[in-house]
Amino acid sequence: MPVRVAVNGFGTIGKRVADAVSKQPDMVLVGVAKTRPSFEARIASEREYPLFVGGEGRVEDFRAAGIAVEGTTDELFRRADVIVDATPDTVGREQVPKYDAAHLRAIFQGGEKPDVAEVSFSALANYEAARGKNRVRVVSCNTTGIVRAASVLRARYGIEQWDATLIRRAADPAETRKGPVNAILPNFQFPSHHAPDAQTIFPDLAITTTAVVVPTTLMHIHVNHVRLRKPPASTADVIAAFQETPRFQIFRSWERVEGTPQVIEYARDHSSPRGDMMANVLWENGIHLDGAELHFFQAIHQESIVVPENIDAIRAMFHLAPDAASSVAVTDMALGLRK
Ligand code: NAD
Repeated sequence: MPVRVAVNGFGTIGKRVADAVSKQPDMVLVGVAKTRPSFEARIASEREYPLFVGGEGRVEDFRAAGIAVEGTTDELFRRADVIVDATPDTVGREQVPKYDAAHLRAIFQGGEKPDVAEVSFSALANYEAARGKNRVRVVSCNTTGIVRAASVLRARYGIEQWDATLIRRAADPAETRKGPVNAILPNFQFPSHHAPDAQTIFPDLAITTTAVVVPTTLMHIHVNHVRLRKPPASTADVIAAFQETPRFQIFRSWERVEGTPQVIEYARDHSSPRGDMMANVLWENGIHLDGAELHFFQAIHQESIVVPENIDAIRAMFHLAPDAASSVAVTDMALGLRK
């Protein structure tokens, strides 16, 4: 029997997770919830996703717009084994009593505080920790990027100290009310929240993060300096380690990917849905080794990087795969991410 998955909140993350669930061989999408009629509600309806009204939304508003809805989230929750909560930051926590009342397992996103769930999750790092759990939190886009790279480096070389500067996008492309439009904004919190968030997965990871926000919507870029315990043989050795790991895309210098615009153009040329890039993006010529000191850039597509992680979290919670590698392989095959 496939696991019955519902998605609450059909915005940037929710609509991508819904599409991803509908492509998995061992899951079925039983519905999505939106609060108001919108173009996204129309898309859900065109894709024949059963649509339900969430939050303070009203069934009659959808019907007035000519969008068929099957009821409210009370009905949706009855049809599901697990809910993927993709409501805005902090709204997920408010949903917990409803999920509990419906005896639903739940996945939360990185905008919620870690204690909303039993475990924070990233598939390459701690798949086993989510096995059989009722509540799992998929860490944020930036933390997912850090933790994936940490999974590669700590297993092979050990990490003495990691310092990262996160150059963060100001808004997602559809968020017209956010900025800045013409500023570089330092985050005066030291460390930024990303380091402690990464430590929810790797408590022993010595990491500090700082962040600035810049006027772009395309991706984040991390500037990483990592002191390794066991120096790699060469830069090529490090490149090979990333290359052989799922969910890493390494561009060669001759590919002329100068920055985030070409990364997104590459994803579009690949006909990736919505121009998404679910892998951590590294550049061969953006990885530099100096003894045990590793310097590298990575770009993180904020809108999509957590999507495969949500799928693996479901598989771990419901014992659908024997191990992380098997789950990641099934997810990535279904999403067209296999290398
Ligand atoms: P979003 O604003 O794009 O989408 C949220 C959706 O939830 C909207 O459609 C909104 O109408 C709906 N909604 C609001 N209240 C609701 C309720 N009570 N019931 C049902 N639906 C409701 O937000 P998003 O960017 O998709 O973020 C969702 C979560 O994912 C947040 O925790 C966020 O921190 C996290 N996240 C976002 C990104 C990103 O870059 N966008 C990346 C990683 C993680």
